[in-house]
Amino acid sequence: MMDVVLTIDVESYTGDYEKEVFAAGLGLDFIVQACRRHKTVGTFFVETLGATRWGRGPVTGIVAALNAAGQDVQLHLHPVVARIEGFEDHEDVLCHRDLATQRMLIARGLEELRACGATNVVAFRAGDLGANEDTLRAMRDAGLMVSANRDLDQKSSIRSRLNEHFPVRNDLARRDGFLDVPVTALRSAVPMLDGPYRHLEISAVGLGELRDGLERLAAAGYACAGILTHPGEFFRHVKGRAVPIVKNCRRLEGLLDFVAGRRDMRMASVAEVAGRAEVPAVSPPEVRANLVWSLVRVAEQAEDRLRGWL
Ligand SMILES: [Zn+2]
Repeated sequence: MMDVVLTIDVESYTGDYEKEVFAAGLGLDFIVQACRRHKTVGTFFVETLGATRWGRGPVTGIVAALNAAGQDVQLHLHPVVARIEGFEDHEDVLCHRDLATQRMLIARGLEELRACGATNVVAFRAGDLGANEDTLRAMRDAGLMVSANRDLDQKSSIRSRLNEHFPVRNDLARRDGFLDVPVTALRSAVPMLDGPYRHLEISAVGLGELRDGLERLAAAGYACAGILTHPGEFFRHVKGRAVPIVKNCRRLEGLLDFVAGRRDMRMASVAEVAGRAEVPAVSPPEVRANLVWSLVRVAEQAEDRLRGWL
């Protein structure tokens, strides 16, 4: 039985959470409602250094909504938005900072998340997955032993540094007491366009590709398939108004429908996966994306881009 983990990174870069996260119900709330309709728990990695700059109000509202919906809330950090005395950041790459700074940021971020109402924080994802060995050390000091920082798709996740630091690639892996839940990547079917790997992000793979990929991952014996998304993948602003990105909304609904109808996979949160014992001992075989479905997605993206211009 393969666990399918939906991870949602929730963040603001400007302090305008309405514009970046809520979008009149088309962002965060759309995802929460989709999970609710499918009786599914997603894992929301909530950025909290923003609370040091813009106050705890917005993050408290986000955590309250997620708690009320029974969703999984975990920690996410973008150093660039922090306003902390004696600290300044312009790069927004956590793993570029020394251990002491990473320790300070993770401890402070966790303190903010708890102060904003989160109660079961066990996992951490760095902004852009920019985590390294020092990040794991800083996580250990903060008591966070679940990481979600690996991604073989180096075209999308150029900051990911931990792929080679766990004994198993592209699936659940344990090391030194840590568990890492990766964003799963498929071998690309169109490497000229996509690079060698295509990761499972809602805005990056078509529904056909996603369904076919999950089926192949389960058949290949994967313990877990990690999927990435953000509230901002489901809307865009047109003339000051938020409108849904219908193709991505359909992908999320289609994904949840698909998994619900399968006997060889089930939706699970990061916290649930962390509570389970079975982790593969060796890397599972790589799974290739389906060429026809990849081309369908390429056409779909082109059509969507065209609509955006018109
Ligand atoms: Zn992020």
